[in-house]
Amino acid sequence: MTGLCELHAHTSYCDGANTCEEMTLAAIDAGLESFGISEHSHTTVPQDTGNLTAESLPLYRAEMRALREKYAGKITLLAGIELDLLGDTPTDGFDYVIGSTHFVCAGGEYRFVDDDSKGQLETAQRLFGGDFYAFAEAYYTEESTVARVTGCDIIGHFDLIAKNNEDDCFFDSSHPRYRAAAIDAMTEILKTQRLFEVNTGAMFRRGRSEQYPQTWLLRELLARGGEVILSGDAHTTAAIAYKFREMEELLRSVGFRHRKILTADGFRDIAL
Ligand SMILES: [Zn+2]
Ligand SMILES: [Zn+2]
Repeated sequence: MTGLCELHAHTSYCDGANTCEEMTLAAIDAGLESFGISEHSHTTVPQDTGNLTAESLPLYRAEMRALREKYAGKITLLAGIELDLLGDTPTDGFDYVIGSTHFVCAGGEYRFVDDDSKGQLETAQRLFGGDFYAFAEAYYTEESTVARVTGCDIIGHFDLIAKNNEDDCFFDSSHPRYRAAAIDAMTEILKTQRLFEVNTGAMFRRGRSEQYPQTWLLRELLARGGEVILSGDAHTTAAIAYKFREMEELLRSVGFRHRKILTADGFRDIAL
């Protein structure tokens, strides 16, 4: 019982590089007690491709059932889904649901929130007249509904909009408009769901120096009674449980006393 758990991972069923079995074997090698794969739900957004489809959904579920049996005794393998706010994949029968907002919509046009820098700038320009704070407000208005709409167990990458904002290069993360939008969304989410992931995905893939949510938001979360679970948002075997020990240090310094893990018996607290 290592107390190590990773629940946010993607495979070749979606935009991940490795198979479910390769990811499972890497999780065993990394000493994880439990490991979950959380494929992207299908969404109603026209340009959103590469997620679970009516054809791949039963294959994913069957493969996860088979792997769970095959590696029983070595790891607790869980089958999850990352349900987008606009997702329409049925979630019954999954072990857990991560709720995420990947799109903003304005003027009938959908844009990825987690685009690259160029794409995010284009979105701010085309949809919000170049006002990045208006972009952020639109994002957090959507995000504020994610727990209620998806019925998720875990809030995924709460401040995804900050993906490319290293050194505040796109917007000032201490700006009153940004802070108010983020805190209003957090407050609304907390009425339905208290568990937020601490996600190192952009640290692994983009070299970001901070996790989602940023440290100031973790302080706000703690002050409002929120709880945390570590997540690597792994799209390759190497990203599983990335920087989890550093995140534990950070959470301790913020003042969190425990983090959650999910096992076959449900969620459990691990002392920090
Ligand atoms: Zn996501
Ligand atoms: Zn993800």
